[in-house]
Amino acid sequence: MSDKPEKFIDENGLRLDGRQVDEMRPMKMELGVISRADGSCYLEWGKNKVMAAVYGPRELHPRRMQKADSVLIRYRYNMAAFSVEDRIRPGPNRRSIEISKVSREAFEPVVLTHLYPGAVIDVFAEVLQADAGTRTAAINAASMALADAGIPMKGLVAACAVGKVDGQLVLDLNKAEDNFGDADFPMTFTQDGEVSLVQMDGNFTQEEFKQAVEMCKEGCQKILGMQQEALRNKFAGELSTDEVDVELIEEDVVEAESDDVDEGAAEPEEVDEDVEESQDDVEDDSMIKADEPEFEEDEPEDEPESEEDEPEEETA
Ligand code: UDP
Repeated sequence: MSDKPEKFIDENGLRLDGRQVDEMRPMKMELGVISRADGSCYLEWGKNKVMAAVYGPRELHPRRMQKADSVLIRYRYNMAAFSVEDRIRPGPNRRSIEISKVSREAFEPVVLTHLYPGAVIDVFAEVLQADAGTRTAAINAASMALADAGIPMKGLVAACAVGKVDGQLVLDLNKAEDNFGDADFPMTFTQDGEVSLVQMDGNFTQEEFKQAVEMCKEGCQKILGMQQEALRNKFAGELSTDEVDVELIEEDVVEAESDDVDEGAAEPEEVDEDVEESQDDVEDDSMIKADEPEFEEDEPEDEPESEEDEPEEETA
């Protein structure tokens, strides 16, 4: 790991990577990059590279895990072994299980879960390259992948973090600021302005806390704008209207609600045997499931051991 920089902010008020304190790293996203997924998004944010893929809604197996009145959302955040300086041991760890849990919860206020009782929506977020802010990058990508999959949602979710270095609040921490700074405060905002995730590492004064919330909110609003733009670019042609924006998606949602589950794009798929087999692949401990005990160490009964629980691997 590199050493702690002497100063994070220079005499001109610029950060080590040349950004202003309230400036985010450049972000770009591309939808529909994984053809087998129902929805997907590749997102770059500074040096972070994240892939999100959504499968479902589809019938949930084993059936005992089904929820009678709503869809089950599972979210798996995973860092590729090669995504960081020191190789990470593959498979879930305490950090990734926690991030998966809070990320899933960040989507609960927006996904219209009651439309697909008994079904499951699987969200996979794979970090390919990490430079701090990977949980927020993954949430931004997952939000887009869910929209790309046509999952009925009240709106999008956007995430970003604020931290503190040299006694100053900074938006969207890079790795040095994250590792050596005094605070890391990731948040998510829904399109309605609702907060669906807050985490905090370090300390803020009350005043700093208020200011940090405002900075996160502004950052998330910018991200929501970019997300809407990316959706517009992908779907405007398909819907052949210049007026396409997220409001249209909201209208679809209302329609879907009133028609209940009919032939909508996101209708749960019938599961044939092949699909069932592939579903078993995702039945691993790293998937955080709603209404299940979290941080459960034991394998579910009758489930084959997942590959990721193989014995410790040698370090590179
Ligand atoms: N990191 C790492 N190894 C790990 C976990 C994290 O090198 O096992 C790095 C990675 O660059 C990550 C950063 O530390 O983005 C900050 O990690 P944190 O736990 O704060 O999560 P993040 O900010 O990525 O959501």
